[in-house]
Amino acid sequence: MFSLTNTPIDTKLLKSELISDKAGAFASFEGLVRNHNDGKSVASLEYEAHLPLCANEIKNIYKEVEDKFNLLGFNCVHRIGHLPIGDMAVWVGVVAAHRDDAFKACRYIIDEVKKRLPIWKKEHYTSGASEWINCTDEAQKKLIKESDYYVRQMNLKEIGLAGQEQLKQARVLVVGAGGLGSSVLLGLAGAGVGTIGICEFDKLDATNLHRQSLYSSDDIGKPKIDLAENRIKALNPFINVVKHGVALSVDNTEDIIRDYDYVCDCTDNFKTKFLLNDVCFFLNKTLIQASIYQYEGQLTVFSPDMPGCVRCLWPEVPEPGCVGTCIEAGVLGVVPSVLGSLQATETIKLICNFAETAVGKTVILNLLNYSVRIIPNAVNTKCPLCSNNPSINSLSGGNTMSDDEPTIDQSELKQFDLDQCVFLDIREEPEVQADSVTQLPIEYLPLSKFQESEFDFEKDKQYIIFCAKGVRSLGFVEHLHEQGITNTLSLNDGIDALHQFCRTNETENV
Ligand SMILES: [Zn+2]
Repeated sequence: MFSLTNTPIDTKLLKSELISDKAGAFASFEGLVRNHNDGKSVASLEYEAHLPLCANEIKNIYKEVEDKFNLLGFNCVHRIGHLPIGDMAVWVGVVAAHRDDAFKACRYIIDEVKKRLPIWKKEHYTSGASEWINCTDEAQKKLIKESDYYVRQMNLKEIGLAGQEQLKQARVLVVGAGGLGSSVLLGLAGAGVGTIGICEFDKLDATNLHRQSLYSSDDIGKPKIDLAENRIKALNPFINVVKHGVALSVDNTEDIIRDYDYVCDCTDNFKTKFLLNDVCFFLNKTLIQASIYQYEGQLTVFSPDMPGCVRCLWPEVPEPGCVGTCIEAGVLGVVPSVLGSLQATETIKLICNFAETAVGKTVILNLLNYSVRIIPNAVNTKCPLCSNNPSINSLSGGNTMSDDEPTIDQSELKQFDLDQCVFLDIREEPEVQADSVTQLPIEYLPLSKFQESEFDFEKDKQYIIFCAKGVRSLGFVEHLHEQGITNTLSLNDGIDALHQFCRTNETENV
């Protein structure tokens, strides 16, 4: 038995209906309306259910319960309508010969009911506000038909049923879930790309929110990859999401990319862009790249079907910092959204075999004057990677991503006498205000002020230089080494690494 009721639950009556002389154990669960949730003060709850779908799904749950447990009887009653604090919202009762079956079955029923039944809960807060919550993927899926989801898009003659099926079969990796990545992920998920990989290892920061439309201000400090997964699965419950919560390197990138058909490069650093270019070339994958600089953005598509790659134009990885990042140059939130939408559009067109695509081309869009230039990608017959006579024949061979860089990992910091070390923070002022290290003495030199500051590097000290991620600091340290200031090292992974170092040291000192 299962019922939905808008009157208070009579547990005494329900129990008496279940109990018999054969019963050796009775277990029940009562779910109550509490006065708080997630830090908010709750005044009352409202439940709404989709009756026919509830009836259908509860049959499945009960069938599973009968298969799994040895029971004499069971029942579940759920309230709908408006409930005050303290009222019982759901009751489960189970009778068995033995307690083990009774306990386990009771737990199973309430967990599955919560997870699978299309019953929605609206919280009314003491502040007067209210919010629908706890609408799960499974329940949501049962309310929407997959064919309804895509009906508007399938009306396009270039897509139709065949294109929609191609989208469902497609596997796309999105590298970077920042400004560009937010827009790409929402676009691909909405279109129904069947398997979407997300590669991202960062946590959400307040400075991300103005341009990264996947996230909300409640989520600061949480791993972006989990937030991104939840957001796009809420948008489209019919897709699969695969998470790669790591920084890409020469060692792991091939293994990650191998399983995908298309790669969307949504990163903002040259090192990763070149790595993706090289791996996609070696594995014959189509690379859909975008980058932005202030009000301008560019979209480039490299495919195994067309000659040309990133190294045709730039044989070697440019110095980090030779082009400003979002942090130094500034960025208007909508610009990466526009370029990310173009990336998603292009990926969808490629999956559905549109006649006209940007393969082999670069689209340069200026959002100040709306000029658009479309130029063919440069093809360099002396390209070290894609020419007939390449000097780069493998990921680790002859390429400029070697490890003899003046960098240091946090685990290697121990080798230094900390009294002789100077930790130098080259981040900009708002970044320092948002996140700083207090356990160590730190000197500050915002990179943008370096030229005018005449900073004095003392010869007998070891300088550990850090920024947010280790990209700007590496560029800076390489510049210093060229000037003969070689007692400087760039800290890999930036401020997070320093936090980690402080935590490890504290633990060891206890
Ligand atoms: Zn090339």
